[in-house]
Amino acid sequence: MKVLVATDKPFAKVAVDGIRKEIEAAGYELALLEKYGEKAKLLEAVVDADAIIIRSDIIDAEVLDAAKQLKIVVRAGAGYDNVDLEAATAHNVCVMNTPGQNSNAVAELAFGLMVMAVRNMYNGTSGSELKGKKLGIHAYGNVGRNVARIAKGFGMDIYAYDAFCPKEVIEADGVKAVASAEELYSTCDVVSLHIPATAETKNSINHALVGRMPKGGLLVNTARKEVINEAELIQLMEERADLKYMTDIMPAAHETFMAKFAGRYFSTPKKMGAQTAEANINAGIAAAKQIVGFLKDGCEKFRVNKK
Ligand code: NAD
Repeated sequence: MKVLVATDKPFAKVAVDGIRKEIEAAGYELALLEKYGEKAKLLEAVVDADAIIIRSDIIDAEVLDAAKQLKIVVRAGAGYDNVDLEAATAHNVCVMNTPGQNSNAVAELAFGLMVMAVRNMYNGTSGSELKGKKLGIHAYGNVGRNVARIAKGFGMDIYAYDAFCPKEVIEADGVKAVASAEELYSTCDVVSLHIPATAETKNSINHALVGRMPKGGLLVNTARKEVINEAELIQLMEERADLKYMTDIMPAAHETFMAKFAGRYFSTPKKMGAQTAEANINAGIAAAKQIVGFLKDGCEKFRVNKK
């Protein structure tokens, strides 16, 4: 069996070493395709692969057509919108992600952004503290839970809303579960976004919702850019000079945000939430273990496409 690591943006060497160890211990062969640039090289490399580990690499119908032996694709990371799930199902290929492996990294970055905002972007003026502030966690998944854990250390008053996670699960962590996104935004001084980009959530963070935040409200986005209705957020921030927006996912309208909202808007230059050595290693090794579990025992935990 051949396991291909196809990463245009390569894993750290230590992660590749860990992946190799898992794959070879199972008696499989590891092939590496890094920084391939052109799709043609990917199409060539997948021809005899039984399994593929990817990062943000695109796996579409053309790639699946070329990969005649392919049984499983694992996206080392949480988001998997770079894989055509329907085409994978049609090709009888199992698609998995590695949820939770980079959650602490993303959660820590959310706090980096929060501290930066309340300390006025480190501009030398007196800021404020997170302690005692109401934090709203919008979606209580893997990242949201890590945010809650860290927020306790900061002494924040923690609220969460999740459309699917039971109230009891949220409250078992000592976090106040609210009944709607509207209530979360109306209640909290800081809202940290952790929803996935779905048909329902796209553009859902809009004027009406963020406009509910109390004076001095801070919105932190380490989730996805698509969930923000950028035009409405710009309009709202024009109307309300007290609001701040900090993001790890650069908006399409970044230049406009920069020009209009200096001092209360910041974006990382590129998505950095999961960019830590630890997250990189964890996700890569988890992907390798999931492939071995699938090929040896048929384990489909973490499958994200239909059969
Ligand atoms: P997760 O799947 O563990 O959790 C997502 C949560 O969202 C689930 O609890 C789900 O019930 C909830 N949810 C889904 N739809 C909802 C809705 N309409 N309203 C409220 N809650 C809803 O995902 P995660 O690992 O916690 O990741 C969260 C987000 O962070 C995702 O958007 C992911 O793409 C993003 N992410 C970003 C980075 C980065 O580098 N910045 C890295 C990893 C993940």
